[in-house]
Amino acid sequence: MKAEIIAVGTELLLGQIVNTNAQFISQECAAQGIDVYVQTVVGDNQERLLSSLQLAASRADVVICTGGLGPTQDDLTKDTLAAWMGRQLLIHEPSMQAISEMFASRGIHMVESNRRQANMIEGSDPLHNETGLAVGNALTYEGTHFILLPGPPKEMKPMFMNQAIPWLQAHMTDEVPLYSKMLKFAGIGESALEYQLIDLIQDQSDPTLAPYAKEGEVTIRVTTRAHSEMEGERKIASTITKIQKRLGDHLYAEQDVPIETIVLELLGKKGLTLTVAESCSGGLLSDLLTSIPGSSQSFIGGIICYSNALKHKLLGVPMEVLEGAGAPGAVSSETAVILAEQLLVRTGSDFGVSLTGVAGPSPSEGKPVGLVYLGLAQKNAITQVFTLNLSGNRETIKLRAAKRALYELWK
Ligand code: ATP
Ligand code: MG
Repeated sequence: MKAEIIAVGTELLLGQIVNTNAQFISQECAAQGIDVYVQTVVGDNQERLLSSLQLAASRADVVICTGGLGPTQDDLTKDTLAAWMGRQLLIHEPSMQAISEMFASRGIHMVESNRRQANMIEGSDPLHNETGLAVGNALTYEGTHFILLPGPPKEMKPMFMNQAIPWLQAHMTDEVPLYSKMLKFAGIGESALEYQLIDLIQDQSDPTLAPYAKEGEVTIRVTTRAHSEMEGERKIASTITKIQKRLGDHLYAEQDVPIETIVLELLGKKGLTLTVAESCSGGLLSDLLTSIPGSSQSFIGGIICYSNALKHKLLGVPMEVLEGAGAPGAVSSETAVILAEQLLVRTGSDFGVSLTGVAGPSPSEGKPVGLVYLGLAQKNAITQVFTLNLSGNRETIKLRAAKRALYELWK
């Protein structure tokens, strides 16, 4: 368990007092087997306190704060944390009563600000103050435990020892391991995918959804906490169903595998074969396919027909389609269709896929960078052609074109 300590108080920064609280808490944490990684000192400033809290929460399992629980306007710890978490400050009645009684017994008039010491962040547990008035708080937010202790050492020490440590021990034992599932998507960009799931991503607490893009594919990691795979599956089931409903056309696997694996599996199961004609992708599609063990069962081979001469010689694209005034050109749906269909004619494969386009960095045939035609021919079916407008550098465009071809095959 990783802990961080944040000592709050401008006096500490001015050197007026020594940060003995951090030393005490560190020593006691070490004795409890809690590893303190970072100690921070921050002044009584809401903005800087918030950024310290957020940074600590991003790294630690436990964030222990001391100071800033008092009655005055510069005591900001609870207010800052509550505002960040979008929670209210509530009055802890037993503390409120103790505060009123103390003032009454001394015959002093109680001012409104004294009530602040009885504040509790909504959803937190109170930590009783044996030697003072400000109630401590313990709570968990987004997987991080927060302990809020008063600044005066004579208050902080007993609260930490008698209240905070038992609370932490109770919350440490029920720490449940993480269970995640990877969902893999093709034929859709990261932002389009995020847009379709924005409500699930924004409202997430359990399970959490983490999308990221890499190597021409988009992945979502769905995570919860569970003691077993069965429990984990049960907890994420309804989220997975929602995602399937919205993005079923793109969700090709519920495990971390590339799409070429799934395409080859499907072809293998049906005993179907595939050939490719690659221009702009320069053999990348063949490389992706042959990187999968056992691909020879379905992948017969391909032709890297980079030049017009080879498109013509090996796959019979007429020169008048490729070149000359008014010709569609090498980067055209006509060329993509002929390439794909000729694969079937000349090799006898069940599927023929062609890619011809402009990988950049400069335009070609007066056509923009990223324009790619994808031909998909299938025995006894009408040949399909897809016009892709891909973004990225040369390498990315090649990869996106190859992955898109695999996506259309899968679909
Ligand atoms: P109070 O009710 O006294 O205002 P508080 O929880 O708001 O308590 P602070 O105002 O931050 O705490 O600090 C009050 C006093 O506690 C400080 O003047 C100092 O004497 C002591 N103190 C605060 N923080 C520390 C620390 N990190 N190490 C040692 N002493 C501290
Ligand atoms: Mg104070």
